[in-house]
Amino acid sequence: IGGVSDAKNLRVKLVLLGDSGVGKSCIVLRFVRGQFDPTSKVTVGASFLSQTIALQDSTTVKFEIWDTAGQERYAALAPLYYRGAAVSVIVYDITNPDSFNKAQYWVKELQKHGSPDIVMALVGNKADLQEQREVPVQDGVDFAEKNGMFFIETSAKTADNINQLFEEIAKRLPRPSP
Ligand code: GDP
Ligand code: MG
Repeated sequence: IGGVSDAKNLRVKLVLLGDSGVGKSCIVLRFVRGQFDPTSKVTVGASFLSQTIALQDSTTVKFEIWDTAGQERYAALAPLYYRGAAVSVIVYDITNPDSFNKAQYWVKELQKHGSPDIVMALVGNKADLQEQREVPVQDGVDFAEKNGMFFIETSAKTADNINQLFEEIAKRLPRPSP
């Protein structure tokens, strides 16, 4: 949606949603810059980053990633943020059941108010903190399956499944006809 897209090169707006502190900004920084900064503070000001990936069929996908500057605290502002998004990545923290409830709320919200063909991914982040896990993997799997979403657990800290997340999203994007 938006920008220059053709059959071989897609350009898509991707928004991240989820409670403050679940690791949205860290996921983006890991994906775009290959870094993890454990001392990073809450995003101040709007944050916009882009990253292009090449798929095996020689097509490319350029993700234009919108990271919230704490707007996640203001549910009323969310529609401005996810308007026109082709992809929504909804993140929770596997050590925090409240954040999983909030993720479910965002899924319902996007089903009601997002673009009808939006690609949604559910992400359980901080998978490195296994000993503090409070949300079973199966809960994520079940919720995603019921809602026709892609599901993955990631760790921005160890980089586990971060690239896989974006590759799987890229594969699921609707393609314009050639
Ligand atoms: P946001 O508010 O959703 O953007 O969350 P941040 O990306 O700012 O991360 C919030 C906190 O969680 C920071 O202290 C990060 O260092 C930490 N964090 C983020 N991702 C991970 C992860 O995968 N594993 C662990 N152990 N900590 C993480
Ligand atoms: Mg953030």
